[in-house]
Amino acid sequence: MKRQIYYLGCLLLSCLLLPLPSAFSQTSADGELLKAIQKIKAIDNHSHALPARSPDPAESERPDPLGKAPFEYPVRLRVNNPEYLEAWRALYGYKHQDMTAGHAREALKAKLHLMEEKGTGYPSWVLDQAGIDITLVNMPSLGPGQNAPRFLWVPRADGFLFPFDGVKEMIKMLPERIDLDSLPSSLNEYVDKIRELLVQWKKAGAVAIKFAIAYRRPLDFAQVSDEEANRVFERHRQDGKPSARDYKTLQDFLFRSVAREAGRLGLAVHIHTGVGADPYFNVSGANPLLLEAMFNDVALRQTNFVIVHGGWPFEREAGVMLLKPNVYADFSAQTFLRSTEALSEVLRAWLEWYPEKILFGTDAYPEDTPLASWEEKLWLTTRTSRQALALALTRMMRAGQITRPRAEELARMVLRDNAVKLYGLEKR
Ligand SMILES: [Zn+2]
Repeated sequence: MKRQIYYLGCLLLSCLLLPLPSAFSQTSADGELLKAIQKIKAIDNHSHALPARSPDPAESERPDPLGKAPFEYPVRLRVNNPEYLEAWRALYGYKHQDMTAGHAREALKAKLHLMEEKGTGYPSWVLDQAGIDITLVNMPSLGPGQNAPRFLWVPRADGFLFPFDGVKEMIKMLPERIDLDSLPSSLNEYVDKIRELLVQWKKAGAVAIKFAIAYRRPLDFAQVSDEEANRVFERHRQDGKPSARDYKTLQDFLFRSVAREAGRLGLAVHIHTGVGADPYFNVSGANPLLLEAMFNDVALRQTNFVIVHGGWPFEREAGVMLLKPNVYADFSAQTFLRSTEALSEVLRAWLEWYPEKILFGTDAYPEDTPLASWEEKLWLTTRTSRQALALALTRMMRAGQITRPRAEELARMVLRDNAVKLYGLEKR
């Protein structure tokens, strides 16, 4: 009996020590495919890349080199996420296995030294380290070291939706030469001004415009007639104080007008969807399904839309929208909010549906934490994306859905070719 128990124990133990090969293999990506994916020069559909700047030597002496996030971040974004060690190793030659203040200061010194040494070449050098060819930059303007063709501008267009209280806000985001110091006398004139500004942006190199309006209101942009919009505009042109309801009506009209004009000019329209960078952000108002009526508007068939962040946690809803010929989605931000495994599941579902509409994006952004800024996030999120893509495609190959050559082709489309087509980059 004792002996039987002993054998049974050994059997159980061997089961625990030797996981079944099939279960194990399904959790890892095909090594050769991953290697091929790592070589693809990617196009980052959405980032907030930093321009070159002079390093401040005082930075490296700050008491807390890791810094503090503005609010309690989700796990992968926290400044003490050990994944950042790997980014420091790759970018700054960091040698330590921990993130103590003394050691982290070495990483910061190395970073500042590189910034000084590379000068205006620093932003491009950062892209090179992550294997990124081109990044779209959603900032008020491009800065030193951020030049086409590697850095492409995506200005924010939210100011257009605030004709009454937002003229000043709008001006802040516009090139200085634009004259808009008072409210135009009619709604038509206002839309004409917007058109002029879009033309200027396009001339200045913009490839798309971005709305982060979900930070201010839900994304349900209804169809509003010219007459109704004009009535509301006229009613409040003098007092400048529309009710919330009237402002919504006017914004619904203006959003569609801006999208139409952008489409005519060949500028894609990026829309922030899903979770926002604020604990009290209204997530339910940023569901991409709220955009459906607007996507279906026949007047907007010339406009290409990008569901930025792929709507997460509404990634299924975002994926479904890809059946509309002029709607794309990027998975930026999911690259740092979610694990590689979770992201691979999103990608697989989308890849099985409309793979030619999926865009890689990092949403790498700077902030007041010196060692978890644009550079480190870019490196980390690009690695997560390549791994998640390899995992999704490996599982599709193993399930007999796609061949190996098709897997590589799909990876190229997601990381690069879909963006080349959408923004007409082959012509550049
Ligand atoms: Zn962003």
